[in-house]
Amino acid sequence: MADLVLKSIRKDFGSFRAVDKVDLTFPHGKLTALLGPSGCGKTTLLRMIAGLEAPSWGQILLGDEDITDRPAYERKFGMVFQSFALFPHLTVAENIAYSLAIEGVDKRKRRARADELLDLVQMGGYGDRRIGELSGGQRQRVAIARALAQEPSVFLLDEPMSALDAKLREDMQVELRLLQQRVGITTIVVTHDQREAMTMADQIVVMSKGYTEQVGTPKEIYSKPGNSFVASFIGKANFLSGEATDGKYRVGEYLFEAPKARGFTAGSPVTLAVRPENAVINDTCACLGEEWAKTPPEERAKNVLPAEVTFVRDVGSTRDIYVKTPVGDLIVEYGAGESLPTLTIGEKVSLRLPPDELHVFPRDAEAAE
Ligand code: ATP
Repeated sequence: MADLVLKSIRKDFGSFRAVDKVDLTFPHGKLTALLGPSGCGKTTLLRMIAGLEAPSWGQILLGDEDITDRPAYERKFGMVFQSFALFPHLTVAENIAYSLAIEGVDKRKRRARADELLDLVQMGGYGDRRIGELSGGQRQRVAIARALAQEPSVFLLDEPMSALDAKLREDMQVELRLLQQRVGITTIVVTHDQREAMTMADQIVVMSKGYTEQVGTPKEIYSKPGNSFVASFIGKANFLSGEATDGKYRVGEYLFEAPKARGFTAGSPVTLAVRPENAVINDTCACLGEEWAKTPPEERAKNVLPAEVTFVRDVGSTRDIYVKTPVGDLIVEYGAGESLPTLTIGEKVSLRLPPDELHVFPRDAEAAE
């Protein structure tokens, strides 16, 4: 029942700092996804956890034990990397039981363990096949079974699906998640694919430039992004640049309320973010008339913008409406079952950004590219 804990972990390669100030807890039996763009330090962090790379600073604890200086082979963590690196000259069962053979476990026991693991990854009966006779997905399952052969306390996977095609990848994500829950093993998966992280993880760690940007459940990360980088990296978001006023936010000559936002000093630059599915289009709104235009911003309805439809994309399950507003272009998304006025290109509508769905961040925080 031991959590894996990282304390102030840092990694320098010469003068380049690849990982900095990482404090994290990987709860026992849970799956954590390390998510972030290419080069943000995910693999370096995983390699330090595995014992393949020494931290320049900080501690790695497994429960009460400090394992920072323990070599990889003594940690006995299960590992699956991008290239599964199975031995082509061995059978499936021999591949899976390879580490047990090295440990001197006798042949019958090895075979029994390999068969047990093959059942676990739903490949019962494949033990005598050669690796060359397997599909990509089957090889991936063999690699997972091989990593689990020694009953590791922690299971580490680096982009385990990257060699698979899109459909198989989605199936394997679900399969791996179900397997992890059955075995109940503390698991860390490196991925740059937010959908993969959302599908599998109990906890997501969003990383950027060597730092952790936010740690939370998939739901928390999506619905309460901690900054504009997270809001843009996880899911889609519209951003508006503005400024805090007295408890409200001004973008151009429009005022917005966002009661869930933390207090900002009046005058501080902010970025407002709203998910496309949370913006609301209305074709019968008071904000379109001349009268409204003459009303001072303070007296107008808050959180409403005049907009013009520039493009409608209907992809069956959703409709994306592209709109132009005086303060920037935005995208609004409606589900197929949601009612939406019939819209034509060039049509004037009003756009409401509901106060409870509006996220406000300090403007200096960088958004994901
Ligand atoms: P990707 O998704 O592309 O694999 P990543 O988030 O896993 O990226 P890392 O592989 O951890 O990123 O690399 C983080 C940074 O550290 C990168 O800028 C990389 O070039 C650098 N780096 C990694 N390993 C070394 C090394 N051995 N020597 C020098 N620089 C390194």
